[in-house]
Amino acid sequence: MTLANTHPNSQTIHTIGILGGGQLGMMLAESALPLGYRCVFLEDTPNAPARLYGKVYSTQQLEEFIADADVFTLEFENTPVKTVEYLQQLSKKQGVYPSPQALKVAQDRLKEKNLFNELNIKTVPFMAVSSKQDIAQACEQLGLPLVLKTSRGGYDGKGQFIIKTSADIDEAWTELGGAVTGQGDLTATPAPLIAEGFINFSREVSIIAVRSQDGHIRCYDLVENHHYQGILAKTQAPAVGASHLFPQAQSAITSIMNHLDYVGVMTLELFVSKDKDGNDMLLANEFAPRVHNSGHWSIEGAVTSQFENHIRAVVGLPLGDTDNIKPSVMVNILGQYPKVSEVLAIDASHYHTYHKAEREGRKIGHITLMPSDVADLDNALSQLINVLPNKVGLDK
Ligand code: AMP
Repeated sequence: MTLANTHPNSQTIHTIGILGGGQLGMMLAESALPLGYRCVFLEDTPNAPARLYGKVYSTQQLEEFIADADVFTLEFENTPVKTVEYLQQLSKKQGVYPSPQALKVAQDRLKEKNLFNELNIKTVPFMAVSSKQDIAQACEQLGLPLVLKTSRGGYDGKGQFIIKTSADIDEAWTELGGAVTGQGDLTATPAPLIAEGFINFSREVSIIAVRSQDGHIRCYDLVENHHYQGILAKTQAPAVGASHLFPQAQSAITSIMNHLDYVGVMTLELFVSKDKDGNDMLLANEFAPRVHNSGHWSIEGAVTSQFENHIRAVVGLPLGDTDNIKPSVMVNILGQYPKVSEVLAIDASHYHTYHKAEREGRKIGHITLMPSDVADLDNALSQLINVLPNKVGLDK
């Protein structure tokens, strides 16, 4: 399929190659199409959501995938860095965004937190640990409880262990030590674990920003996220009563993006905690080098969605306005689909299916609520919770 593309600054780009073919790839393709671009995907999972929006190549067909696309991006942050480096070196292509350098940092919690601190962005106290003795030392230095995490390969709260007393160290090592020794399937490349001081945060927030090829940055509102067992259940955009924290979040994501000469959408996840004087402060937890679940509200809730802005950045078009149109709440559909008719009976609800089979705990779609009167938001959410078969993490 060839699409007519008349943009003067991106005439040589017709097709965007996306590494990964999940729902993020699907929603990127949805916003690329009206701009005149088709997307193709590199994905091994059968029946991946993106199949409905463009051709899916398996990793065995890497060369065909490359031949079919003019510029590359990714929707899966554990994409092998080697593949991204290979794409970056292809001289006839328009590049790969974000760069392998950014991906390398994002794939390693230790590199990531070291970078944050180097850029004067506050984090929880942390240290690298590679043995039971190191963990015991971390417990002494950072105090208990302690959060032990694999530095690579973890997602949605997987690869983590909370050490409450020093008696838990053996069990923690049995569970996560394989990531250090290379035994077990926690990570392909052995790497130290990260021990973090346990933080009593009041809220979890995230900020999404987009950076263009000429270094222009636009930020979305700070949003509040609610997780259930490590999986995002709900995002409120903007986070209520958090405007005083926006400048700090904006400054943090701006310095990370500039430092990495980043192109595309990035998400920074932060904890809201208290400083020693009792004032709110932000601690950076991690960044995602991609569009993010906490930005799905922007499809209807922002002037330009995170997906469209990512596409614009990747093909070299001007970035769009990131302003919030109306306060909104995004709820993930986890495990089981609700009846579409019941969801759409709620004022200003927007339904998105990912065309995935139902499976416990799996993200299979999302719903965004943005009623015409903001005062109805709570009421709309209660109505939605009533019709969702799976309400976990949604207690108000
Ligand atoms: P992560 O994989 O780092 O995003 O962590 C998953 C979830 O675990 C976070 O959303 C927090 O709710 C919780 N968590 C992670 N790190 C810490 C920490 N250092 N202290 C307290 N809770 C944490």
